[in-house]
Amino acid sequence: MSTRAKAYYLRMTVETTLVQERRLVTAIPGPKSLEALKRRTAATSAGLGIAIPVVIARAQDAILQDVDGNCIIDLGSGIGVTNVGNSASRVVDRVIEQVQSFTHTCFTVAPYLGYIEVCEVLNRITPGDNPKKSLLVNSGAEAVENAVKIARHFTKRQAVVVFEHAFHGRTNLTMALTAKNVPYKDGFGPFAGEIYRMPMPYPYRWVGDAASITSDALDLITQKIEKEIGAQNVAAILIEPIQGEGGFIVPPKGFLPGLADYATQNGIVFIADEVQSGFARTGDFFACDDEDVVPDLIVMAKGIAGGLPLAAVTGRADIMDSVHASGLGGTYGGNPIACAAALGTIETIEEDNLVDRANEIGAILESSLQALAKRFPIIGEVRGRGAMQAIELVYPGTKQPNAEAVSLIIQYCQSQGVLLLTAGTLNNVIRFLPPLVITDELLLDALSVLEEGFARL
Ligand SMILES: *Cc1c(COP(=O)(O)O)cnc(C)c1O
Repeated sequence: MSTRAKAYYLRMTVETTLVQERRLVTAIPGPKSLEALKRRTAATSAGLGIAIPVVIARAQDAILQDVDGNCIIDLGSGIGVTNVGNSASRVVDRVIEQVQSFTHTCFTVAPYLGYIEVCEVLNRITPGDNPKKSLLVNSGAEAVENAVKIARHFTKRQAVVVFEHAFHGRTNLTMALTAKNVPYKDGFGPFAGEIYRMPMPYPYRWVGDAASITSDALDLITQKIEKEIGAQNVAAILIEPIQGEGGFIVPPKGFLPGLADYATQNGIVFIADEVQSGFARTGDFFACDDEDVVPDLIVMAKGIAGGLPLAAVTGRADIMDSVHASGLGGTYGGNPIACAAALGTIETIEEDNLVDRANEIGAILESSLQALAKRFPIIGEVRGRGAMQAIELVYPGTKQPNAEAVSLIIQYCQSQGVLLLTAGTLNNVIRFLPPLVITDELLLDALSVLEEGFARL
C-alpha cells in the first residue's frame, strides 16, 4: 500500500469508529489520563494551564476521545479553532497531499501556490469589495503584531488605541494590548509603549439602552482620544468586534460603524481582531459583516485552518503595500501544510454552508440558555451571536460576578463528559464555541448536562 493510501485508510478507520456520542467508560480523569497527567506535570512547564484533566487520544468532529476511551462533547473547539470539526475530511485530504509534495521552502525564499491561493481566498471572503492584499503568519498574536507594524508604517504615527476586556495575545506587544493582568501579564513587564486603553461599551454593565450606550461610548472615547493622545498621533484603533477572552461582550448596534467612521475621518487605521469571531463562528463569515463594517485591516487565526497553525492579516491594498520589501515575513509564516489546511477549511465552510449552520446552532443555544436563565436567576445574561454564545453568572438579584458558580458548573459538566470553557475579566462567564458540524442531538445532550449542573448547584 502506498503511504497516501495507508494514510487514507487510517483516516477512514478513525471516521468509522469515532461515533458522535457522549460515552463515559471511567471516571474523569480515568486511570490512563491520570498516569499521563503525571508525566505532563513532570515534563512540561508549570506555566501552562489546563481546562479539562484528561489526555486526548483522538478526535473527530465534535467528539474528543481520551486515552481511557471516554468520549467527550467538545463545546470549546480548542478555543474556537476547529469550527469545521476536528480532523475534517477536506482538511485531512489536502494536508496528506501537501505533506507528501513538500513540507517547507519558506515563502520569502521560494514561493508556492498554496500561500498565494489562501491570500486570494482571504481577499475575497473578508468584508469589503475594495482591493485587498494579505500576509500569512503563524499565530494570532503574530498577526496582531504585524497589523500594528503595518498601521504604524503606513500612518507614520505611533499610538494604538485598545479597549477594556480586550485580548490580543501573549507576546510582548500583544500583552500590552491585552487588558487583563492575571494570568496574561502579571510579572511579565515591562510592556511596549504607546498603547492607550479606552472604555468598552459592555451593555450588561452599562446604564441605558443600546442607542444611548453607543452614543455615550463614542463621545467618551473620541473625547479621550482628542484630549489624551491627539487623533493625529493615533496609528490604529484595534478592537475585537465581539470580545472573546473578555467574556463575549457584544458592543451595542452602531458602535462599531461609529468607531470605524471616526477612524476614517482621522486617518487612523481601523483594525478588527477577528481571531476568535471569524470563520463562520458568529453566523456570518466575519463578525464585522453583521453591520457591514469594512475594517482597514482584519486579523485572523484560530478558525482559519482547522487546527493547523496559521494566521493572517488582510486589508486595504494601499496599506498592505506601504511596507518596504522584506519588512514583513518570518521563517514559517504561511507554511504550505497549514495553507493546504486553510484551503480545506474554507472549502468546507462554503460547500457545507457552515455560516447558516452557525445560525441554527446559535438559535438552539440561545433558546436553551434563555430558558435556563428564566429558571436559574444565577444567570445574569445570555449573550453572543450565532455559535458564539455565553452566559454571565452573578449572585441572584445582583450583578455581582459569581466565579465560584462557574467553576462548579464547569467541573460538573466535565465529570459528565462535556467540555466547556470559561471567559471574562471577572472569571464569571461560560462560553459556548461548539464545532459548527456538531449534530443537534449532541448539542442538546450537552445542554441537558448543563441544565443538570444548574439544578444541582
Ligand atoms: C486567541 C486570540 C489571539 C491570540 O492568538 P494566538 O494564536 O493564541 O496567538 C488574539 N486575538 C484574539 C481575539 C484571540 O481570541
